[in-house]
Amino acid sequence: MIDPRDRQRLAENWLRVVHDVEQAASQSSRNLSEVRIVGVTKYVNADMTEALVDVGCRDLGENRPQSLWEKAEKLGGRDLCWHQIGHLQRNKIRRTLQYPVVIHSVDSVRLLDAIDDEQRLANDTRAVDVLLEVNISGEEAKTGMSPNELRDVMPSLPRDRVNVRGLMAMAGWGTAGDEARRQFAAVREFRDSLASEFGLPLDELSMGMSGDFAEAIAEGATMVRIGSRIFDGLLAT
Ligand SMILES: *Cc1c(COP(=O)(O)O)cnc(C)c1O
Repeated sequence: MIDPRDRQRLAENWLRVVHDVEQAASQSSRNLSEVRIVGVTKYVNADMTEALVDVGCRDLGENRPQSLWEKAEKLGGRDLCWHQIGHLQRNKIRRTLQYPVVIHSVDSVRLLDAIDDEQRLANDTRAVDVLLEVNISGEEAKTGMSPNELRDVMPSLPRDRVNVRGLMAMAGWGTAGDEARRQFAAVREFRDSLASEFGLPLDELSMGMSGDFAEAIAEGATMVRIGSRIFDGLLAT
């Protein structure tokens, strides 16, 4: 059960996030409807996740597939889209594809092949929406493919059962403000060059988190992944 005061706080936080995203969009002459807000619920349990759905969030992001499954089961009757934003092991694909999902974190051609295979095995003719994760800051610790690795995946596209909708990226550790914005601009430019070279739309750019979503939106993000700001004041410290 969620304390009514916490519910109230959550509603206020959500509205503020929506407002701030809208403001960031309008500052770049973009529209709120062009930016999907993925509420990252990895910090909270299924009850708090449901409370977030109640205040209006329909896109939910999880790092661990097991948490995604658990919450997707509990909130099964709702019209939601799940977002797998952390690394997905190949043995977790089958179960993950049972829910309406976008996989943001495709970081190898092996994973792409495996998603393709699972969808075929399931006899599902729909294409799974995925993003290719690029490590733009070049840091060892960061996840995702280097631009060269990612470029090597492109000749295997398009595919029947996997629809590569675009790219996902994170700014490097400790980067913020102008430096984060420069990295997001590099992601967009990389996407533009791939799109024209390989003749694919790659419309989606998943970039920007609580600390840098405004910079990401200014550089063309179509999905922002926001967690801590939504749960501000609601997490045990
Ligand atoms: C946790 C996480 C987020 C959300 O980060 P916040 O700073 O809490 O908004 C976004 N993307 C990924 C990949 C994450 O793991």
